[in-house]
Amino acid sequence: MKQCAHNIYIHVPFCKSKCKYCAFFSRPCPCPDWDRYTESICDEIAYFGQKLGKVLVPTVFFGGGTPSLVPQVNMLRIISALKKYFIIPDGAEITLEANPATIDKDKLSALQQMGFNRLSVGVQRLDDNELQFLGRTHTARDAFELLNVAMDFGMRVSADFIYGIPGDTVESITKMCKQINTIGLTHCSLYELTIEKDTPFGKMNLDMPKNEEMANMYLAISDYLNLPRYEVSNYALFDSHCRHNENIWDGGAYIGIGQGAAGRILLDGVWYEQSGGGGMFNPLSDGQRAIEKILTGMRTVCGCRLTQDVKNVIDIDWVNAHPEYVQVSDNRIYATARGLLILDNVITKLVK
Ligand code: SF4
Repeated sequence: MKQCAHNIYIHVPFCKSKCKYCAFFSRPCPCPDWDRYTESICDEIAYFGQKLGKVLVPTVFFGGGTPSLVPQVNMLRIISALKKYFIIPDGAEITLEANPATIDKDKLSALQQMGFNRLSVGVQRLDDNELQFLGRTHTARDAFELLNVAMDFGMRVSADFIYGIPGDTVESITKMCKQINTIGLTHCSLYELTIEKDTPFGKMNLDMPKNEEMANMYLAISDYLNLPRYEVSNYALFDSHCRHNENIWDGGAYIGIGQGAAGRILLDGVWYEQSGGGGMFNPLSDGQRAIEKILTGMRTVCGCRLTQDVKNVIDIDWVNAHPEYVQVSDNRIYATARGLLILDNVITKLVK
């Protein structure tokens, strides 16, 4: 059976040092034996290339961790393996997540030559004291320089920011949004700081903003940022959306490669939950898939497609009784602005 297109996510679980809020699967330097890690990534690429056939790969996303740490020569081997085992069309979106302290103009230029055309930069804050507080290893100036170089190179550029750190108010976030507007980005992500138990922040008794203040900051972001929200934490011009993430939110197929990666494979008509690094490969029932599609689709402004499997698990009476939180239109269900503020609760009620 001919298999469908799959996107590819490659995880690089290594960082220069660990940020104080971070609960992602990543280890601080000393960095690994890059040749060994590259070999294991290439082995996984070959495995999926043989299992699925030479399928179309419309997007590749290198995430982490800090994939901008991978040496150029190793990155070249990974890109060559991808091209050997899959069809990477012209115009494929190839994204690299980057920490400003780990990449310079020459390295970025070399990566662009390899085919990288989108850079997602972890900026987080625009004030050096705040960056230090978060445990970041770069300055705001480093971040600005990287963003500007990438934009000058003609790459599609995104930047990640964090809001809701101790001391944040609607005024401070409004100010940050206005500063972000001056950068000229067409895509950015603003994530609320959540305190995870097993992180340095989780062990400190931080004076965090209250829930209502956090909600007001979230509302201020859409009021003051000059990019429209298209997902709970993502803002972009229409033609700058992250195609890789949109495919995931829409319930599309993608392969997860590397330790800590996760994927959703469609093989001979059966969906599988898959994890990278030689992990599990489990079939998913229609009900499990439908719930996943609701969990991810409802995070987007255009919502979740009402396919039959999704309709089967939705409590339509609850939906009809709560138009202030959810609406149905054009065979899609989506959260209203009020619904997005309490999305987890809405989803819990929405699913039968
Ligand atoms: S750079 Fe990103 S993945 Fe690495 S420790 Fe910091 S937040 Fe976590």
